Amino acid sequence: MDEIIKTARQLAKPFRVTDASSFRLKDIDPGDTLDLKSEDKPHAQEALAIGIEALAHLQDMLYAQDRWGLLLIFQAMDAAGKDSAIKHVMSGVNPQGVEVYSFKSPSAEDLDHDYLWRCIKRLPERGRIGIFNRSYYEETLVVRVHPEFLAQQKLPPDLVTKNIWKDRFQDIRSFERYLVRNGFAIRKFFLHVSKKEQKKRFLERVENPSKNWKFSASDMEERKFWDPYMEAYEDMIRNTATEDAPWFVVPADNKWFTRVIIAAAVIDALASMNLSYPMVSEEKLKELAAVKEALLKK
Ligand code: ATP
Ligand code: MG
Repeated sequence: MDEIIKTARQLAKPFRVTDASSFRLKDIDPGDTLDLKSEDKPHAQEALAIGIEALAHLQDMLYAQDRWGLLLIFQAMDAAGKDSAIKHVMSGVNPQGVEVYSFKSPSAEDLDHDYLWRCIKRLPERGRIGIFNRSYYEETLVVRVHPEFLAQQKLPPDLVTKNIWKDRFQDIRSFERYLVRNGFAIRKFFLHVSKKEQKKRFLERVENPSKNWKFSASDMEERKFWDPYMEAYEDMIRNTATEDAPWFVVPADNKWFTRVIIAAAVIDALASMNLSYPMVSEEKLKELAAVKEALLKK
């Protein structure tokens, strides 16, 4: 187990944003696979299987100990592989200990509240892993790229100033620090796919009948805003990558690689909690011994 944790740390480290203020998205290659080649893919899949087993073990302790919680946030352009990454990385964990929530366009009720409201309702309980498939970060992404969404938010006009994004970053940082101080670790993943790979995946969705359902015309619409999105992502990461709640910018042109890195980062996060199974009291141990004796007699 120690060996797996050590490897996981090493794998995840290069993709963790540590120097936020100088972060540039351009420096990260969506096709990066470290020194692994495509012929290493079977190897990587094996490593992922081992990682998933380790993750399941850590999650079991997280659940039993019932003190810490973990919030995983996934953000990406369409077709970057959020859904399948979540599916694969979490495939070994006990479903009772995981809560996944996908945030879509806000409802009328959501818009009657502050923007964190709908997300706060979905935060994980202690002992659980909560997964946000999209999140309050959309408030600095889609809402920034399309000002008409901001206009729908019913904010008092005096509060909508040129500082609004800065304000939001600050509020998000404070909110995340608050969660961390309450025992909820946070790891954030930006699945960084290239525009070229997105085109390839959209074509697959159009051409393959079993993937048709995944395609929506609005995905094509958003593709036109690629550059403003990249700027928004970069600014978001620069302003919200903190020691407490780090961003991982994960190359996403090769799904097998993306999954390995995410699994590694999650293992690292859980391993940093010093998890253990709760110790039972002296009294309870006596009770267990008595039960054992009684069972063996029959
Ligand atoms: P995904 O695109 O995440 O795989 P999906 O295609 O099943 O999921 P969609 O109906 O496309 O679901 O819902 C996600 C859409 O909701 C995205 O385009 C996203 O930008 C939008 N969205 C999420 N949060 C907000 C928000 N706060 N304001 C406006 N739009 C939002
Ligand atoms: Mg979509």
